[in-house]
Amino acid sequence: MVHEPKSGQDDVILEVNNLRTYFRLDEGLLKAVDGVDLKIKAGKTLGIVGESGSGKSVTSQSILRIVPTTAAVEGEIKLRRRKQGKTEVVDLARMEPEGAEIRSIRGGEISMIFQEPMKAFSPIHTIGNQIVEAIMLHRTKNKEEAKRMAIETLRKVGMSNPEQRFGEFPHQLSGGMRQRAMIAMALSCNPSILIADEPTTALDVTVQAQVLQLINDLKRTIGTSVIFITHDLGVIAEMSDEVAVMYLGKVVEYTDVESLFYGALHPYTQALLHSIP
Ligand code: ADP
Ligand code: MG
Repeated sequence: MVHEPKSGQDDVILEVNNLRTYFRLDEGLLKAVDGVDLKIKAGKTLGIVGESGSGKSVTSQSILRIVPTTAAVEGEIKLRRRKQGKTEVVDLARMEPEGAEIRSIRGGEISMIFQEPMKAFSPIHTIGNQIVEAIMLHRTKNKEEAKRMAIETLRKVGMSNPEQRFGEFPHQLSGGMRQRAMIAMALSCNPSILIADEPTTALDVTVQAQVLQLINDLKRTIGTSVIFITHDLGVIAEMSDEVAVMYLGKVVEYTDVESLFYGALHPYTQALLHSIP
């Protein structure tokens, strides 16, 4: 039932093959992600949709190797990247979860935003200093330059008066502004891939629309590839080029966004489409 979107191989920057993430629980093995294949293309958005518990978040956490130690990640997570002028392919599944290599990829090449910005920011440091710290880890050792880049990124995500915002603490911002600040932090290191896990679920409708628009604008102007995770098919339609539908830890439908709405094959996808009010 899974039919893959047509494309050449050369524009694929992340390829996930037979990803399996199992939690060892007292009751036995929980197959949270059970043989998932995905391809992320340069400058495109792959939407991942599915009901709560279908394995969307664990899939994204597995890609970044940030799953709890009670889980094992198996399969291939191949990232194509430019290093010192050369293209190389590395397999994130083979890396030590706390090793230097994956830590430089996290935030540097693959960034993540999610529902609650307070999970990304420390409450006791200013927004600006936290972005500067991320930049100094990945882009420049020069603090003044890092500060300029941070303010520039805050401006890019549509924050009014970015110099002032720079010195504010996370709790001083509104929900929508905090979400923008998290996007700024995620993008401040020029990642080639942004993973957005239900980033607008907690926002009210108007702010949600603004944040979605922002992600689409940034994707167009910066060329970042996006993995956009949501349980909302309306949001999927607005954000995605291609869509993977997840159900019980598996991808049951994988197609371009137009075909999803007009040619869905899997019974689960059809039920999901029919459940739209
Ligand atoms: P989704 O993001 O699609 O709502 P998740 O990826 O969070 O779903 O969860 C997939 C499955 O893995 C669920 O059955 C969930 O209960 C389980 N799960 C997620 N995180 C953990 C964890 N830390 N420990 C044990 N089980 C987990
Ligand atoms: Mg989730």
